[in-house]
Amino acid sequence: MTPDRPDPDPTPDTPSDSDSDLRWICVFCGSSAGEDPRYLDAATKLGRSLAARGMGLVYGGSQLGLMGRLADSVLNAGGKVVGVLPEPLLPREVAHRSLTKLVITESMYERKAEMARLADGFIAAPGGLGTIEEFLEVLTWAQLGMHRKPCGILNTNGFYDPLSAVFDHGMREGFIQHVHRKMILIESEPDPLLDRMSAYQPPKVPRWIEVGET
Ligand code: AMP
Repeated sequence: MTPDRPDPDPTPDTPSDSDSDLRWICVFCGSSAGEDPRYLDAATKLGRSLAARGMGLVYGGSQLGLMGRLADSVLNAGGKVVGVLPEPLLPREVAHRSLTKLVITESMYERKAEMARLADGFIAAPGGLGTIEEFLEVLTWAQLGMHRKPCGILNTNGFYDPLSAVFDHGMREGFIQHVHRKMILIESEPDPLLDRMSAYQPPKVPRWIEVGET
């Protein structure tokens, strides 16, 4: 962990020797709650699982939708939450007022770079275009060898089955390499997903470019 990163003090009941490499998880998820209450329930469950493992949450900083529910859940379970919000979005996304830390960036680009810098792994939970865009970007960064952090999809209620089918289709049609498809960890429940992320061994991917070159 770099010194300027926030330190998520493990909660007292957290085993300190588990999941030690994944201290901060960045979760991309909807600023809306979705139609089915199972999406909100899953955000609650994911938050509890993160806190129980002593993992801090890095997320978009909003109190809206699944984002707000996830942050509340981590905080209520005694965990740490860092929100990263771009200034231009402050009026629209409504900053969460009880976070461990709120980072305000000048732009959306800086927000994404800061979230990626702070996190040891990434999860896409159900969400809209913002969620999908943010996750695909960190995934393509992994493909380019710019980071070696695990990228997981929380497939609540089969929400990401169509996207997963696109990945498989892309592989069959020769556009996505098998080694890159295998980087995408997909589970329908938080604990199996976090287990797989903790055990993740990144493939040897050549480093084509550096983060500053994107
Ligand atoms: P959504 O999934 O569309 O509800 O958005 C979830 C989060 O993604 C929100 O915090 C949005 O600010 C963010 N977001 C929306 N559009 C983008 C974008 N083009 N790039 C990065 N983040 C975005």
